[in-house]
Formats: sequence, structure tokens, C-alpha cells
Amino acid sequence: MVEDDERQRRIEWLGQVCIGLHEQFGPLTEGAPAAYIPELSNVDPDLFAIAAVALDGQEQLTGDHDHLFTIQSISKLLLYGLALETHGREAVLERVGVAPTGDLFNAIELDEERHRAPNPMVNAGAIAITDMVGGSREERIEGIAAMFERYLGRRPEIDDAVWKSERATGNHNRAIAYLLLSHGIIEDRVEETLDVYFAQCSVLVSARDLAMIGATIANSGVHPVSGEQIVSPRVARDMLTVALTCGMYDYAGEWAYTVGIPAKSGVGGGIVGIIPGAGAVAVFSPRLDEHGNSVRGLRVFEALSEEFDMHLFDFDRPWTRA
Ligand code: GLU
Repeated sequence: MVEDDERQRRIEWLGQVCIGLHEQFGPLTEGAPAAYIPELSNVDPDLFAIAAVALDGQEQLTGDHDHLFTIQSISKLLLYGLALETHGREAVLERVGVAPTGDLFNAIELDEERHRAPNPMVNAGAIAITDMVGGSREERIEGIAAMFERYLGRRPEIDDAVWKSERATGNHNRAIAYLLLSHGIIEDRVEETLDVYFAQCSVLVSARDLAMIGATIANSGVHPVSGEQIVSPRVARDMLTVALTCGMYDYAGEWAYTVGIPAKSGVGGGIVGIIPGAGAVAVFSPRLDEHGNSVRGLRVFEALSEEFDMHLFDFDRPWTRA
């Protein structure tokens, strides 16, 4: 283990670098906020935050770190953890595999041979995972809210306007859900399951919240502040694996190559990058590239990965070196 004062020095250095990167990439206005969910295009595109949380709960916060935005696809990672905890690996793997697709996140496709969704990070997989949350509509939403509460340390709030907007325009997701139904992967309550899925995508988080969520997973499932074991180490390991292979949409391969840490992105403009055994960094900036990833977010993580040798296969990786 690295010495405590060395660790402390690195966390403070990380904070300084984040301030520098916030200044450096602030003027970058490439990309555009997601518009396919109409309500998302109302965001102020200039918002920009970088937040880092270490395993001991120490925070380094820059920019609009308390601004709340919808978590969108980053919820997929948490729901995957919940499904693994509740049903176990076997039952989950029966419905959702772990193969990266290289296709768009909302591709209308399944693993036809195995009659399952390709992976839990694309919409097909996330809708199948949402179907596994049992109970009535209200109980399912409550179960997911209770999970969020453990990560966030407060009751989660849902952005009603975004939730409604997704419900009103989510016909692409409806097509995916009916394909899942036709293969017997989900139960015959499509509108309800979609409603629950849209609700979890509309949960409001800040960049700081995302970094805390990431640090929990980096800390083998133990929340850095509450000390609560939210998912088991084994489940945290499975979450990290799919985040590394499938977390960044069809850019996941390039991301693994250049940045090299497990991460999950959402069309609300958030990205959380997880450094197992060290902590997590989150970036929020709503302008997205063609893959659906925050443009400034990508630049910040590329720079951080270089500066701190964060890539999992960096032989000089200092973060968890003995
Ligand atoms: N609610 C969004 C959808 O299903 C999530 C997409 C995302 O963040 O990738 O289209």
C-alpha cells in the first residue's frame, strides 16, 4: 500500500490538476446536448463540473459540482448491481449477457442465439434488468429509490419533466421492449417496465454524487462516507467489468484503449470513471459527441489518465501499487 501522506499528496495534486483542466476545457464548445429527449435540450450547455472522491471520502470539487442533472444511462450500472445482489449471477446472465456490441446504445438488437440482451449497459439490457425488479409499479420505483438513497445519502429526486418527456417520446425504447417481450425475456407489462426504466434515468444527481457512487464501487462496494456495504465485492467486480467493456457506448473500445478505466456515461452529460482501489472522478458537461459521450468529459479523462498513469495496464500505475 502506498503511504498515507503520499496518497494525500496525490489527492491534492489531483484537485489542482482538475482545476487546471476545468480552465483548459471550459472554452471547448464542441458537441450538443441530447435532443432526442426534448426536455434534455433545455439544459444550459455551458455547465461544467469535475468532482473526485477518494476511498476515505475526501473530495476535490471544481465548477458546477452541485448542479443536479439526470443520471440517464449511468443508472444502468447501479441497477445491474441491484439485480446481481437480488437474483445472483446465473439468473441475470440468463436474460442479459456481457458482450460489448459496438452498436448504438439504443440499437434494437438481441443476442438471438441465447435469447438474451447483449449486455446491461445498452438499453435492451437495462430494460431487461429493470423488468427483474419485482413488485407493483410503486414497489418497483420504491425499491430503486431505496437503492439510490444508499448511494446518495438522501432520498433521490426525479426530474418529472424529463420523466414525462421520455415517456412521451420513447417509442424507440418501446420497440426494444416489445422485442424483449417477443423473446420471453421480460414480462408482459411493457408500459409499466418502461415507466420504471424512464424513472430511474430521470433521477437527479450532481457530479459530486456521481464521484461518490463511483468511489463506492471502487471501494469494493463500501460507501466511503456511511461505511455501508451497498454491493458485495464480487458484485462490485462484475459492475466494474461491464463498465470497462461496455460503459462508454460504442466508444467503449477506444475508451479502454486511451483512458483504460471502468466508466459509465449518460446522455445527461455525466461520465463517472472508476479507479478500483483508489476512488472515482466524475465530469458533467452536457455537450455530447456522436456516440452520446460528453465531449469535455472525454478530454478531461484522457488528460487525467495520462497525468496520473490511471490506465489499468499502465505498469507505472501508482494508485494501488504495493
Ligand atoms: N433514458 C435514456 C434512453 O433510454 C438513457 C440513454 C443514455 O443515457 O444512454 O434513451
